Amino acid sequence: MRQSKFFTKVSRDIPKDEESYNAQVLIRAGFVDKVGAGIYTLLPLGLRVLQKINQIIREEMVAIGGQELQMPALHPKEVWQATGRWEGFDALFKLKGSDNREYALGATHEEVVTPLAKRHVFSYKELPTQVFQIQTKFRNEKRAKAGLIRGREFLMKDLYSFHADEADLNKYYKTAQKAYFKIFERCGLLDVTYLTFASGGAFSKFSHEFQTVTSAGEDTIYICDDCQIAVNQELIEEHPHCPNCEKTELRQEKAVEVGNIFKLRTRFSDAVDFAVKTAEGDMKPVEMGCYGIGPTRVLGTIVEVHHDDRGIIWPETVAPYQVHLLSLKQEKVAEEIYEALLDRGVEVLYDDRDISAGEKFAEADLIGCPLRVVVSEKTLAQGNKVEVKKRNKQESELVTISRLLEMVKK
Ligand code: ATP
Ligand code: MG
Repeated sequence: MRQSKFFTKVSRDIPKDEESYNAQVLIRAGFVDKVGAGIYTLLPLGLRVLQKINQIIREEMVAIGGQELQMPALHPKEVWQATGRWEGFDALFKLKGSDNREYALGATHEEVVTPLAKRHVFSYKELPTQVFQIQTKFRNEKRAKAGLIRGREFLMKDLYSFHADEADLNKYYKTAQKAYFKIFERCGLLDVTYLTFASGGAFSKFSHEFQTVTSAGEDTIYICDDCQIAVNQELIEEHPHCPNCEKTELRQEKAVEVGNIFKLRTRFSDAVDFAVKTAEGDMKPVEMGCYGIGPTRVLGTIVEVHHDDRGIIWPETVAPYQVHLLSLKQEKVAEEIYEALLDRGVEVLYDDRDISAGEKFAEADLIGCPLRVVVSEKTLAQGNKVEVKKRNKQESELVTISRLLEMVKK
């Protein structure tokens, strides 16, 4: 992509009405645009990152048997009344249609997916089965000050699993936990993300959150460094202790809940009479689990975890472009390199604009692509070379153009 043609511009000003670092830097660097509190447009740069996060999540969900579908964002009041959550779900956005009926904007999809499964699954022989979507959710959040981390409109991956009995639910729940760690590993968050015990509500003792440690977090967790697990403050009645080894010397940290998995048991299948035939021939309510991740929240969290005082440092796996090519008045050579990189399928952002070198360097650091390549009179004078520098390293090196093409191939 040529920056001279790029739709978005980098801005010098820090947005005044944003408190959170992730929103400030993402707005300045042209990844998102703020429309209102907790409401953002994903700009071309931001959408590229989001699509990579979505694809990682999609692959790991498909790997554990998830079948992708898309449910509506607009829900008739009746489906929420059926589960008793029309009144019970605090953050539900409610609206009236021109037919004078009431609707909700989907905050979660148990109300839609359970009747759907009831229309398609009839026997224990068809279980287990799992469906998921990556879809827009709406929640009337009281505070929306954490940028992409807490939106009023946000993206969620929600997977729902259906089982013939509790043992099978428990087994799948463990499988899902492993898949979640793969996702956070691939998104560059594994080192700071902890399986966290949280309250499970009325249907199971615990639910599990995936909490990423960052000072930007709204939650407080207590980490057991021996067991590499944590417990959420909300759970804790007296003295926090590790749910695994009972240790009480725990490390207190601020964290963001990037994912949450829940054994729903028969809470929703009971509400809509979703039962299947057992081997013995009688009817048994279906056991359910739900598994959420917020891709937009993950995006904001990656920015909080991976940055320095000059800007974002994207992990390669989710970077909008792998290479940021800067031409310092050397368009002829830079064009050749740009074309050669494109030919090899490398994602390149090419700064071909007529602005100062200082501005180009500052913007490259702000945007945060993993590899910066500079073509200048100085680099070319030293044996027709270019300067390459990793965004997460201090040192740079001069390499020939053929060496550069070798490097980016890997
Ligand atoms: P929180 O405790 O942070 O309010 P939650 O427990 O209500 O979140 P879930 O209903 O479990 O969240 O949603 C599943 C996932 O969706 C969360 O783990 C998070 O990644 C994401 N998510 C939830 N609410 C938001 C939001 N307002 N903005 C962005 N992502 C969200
Ligand atoms: Mg939560």
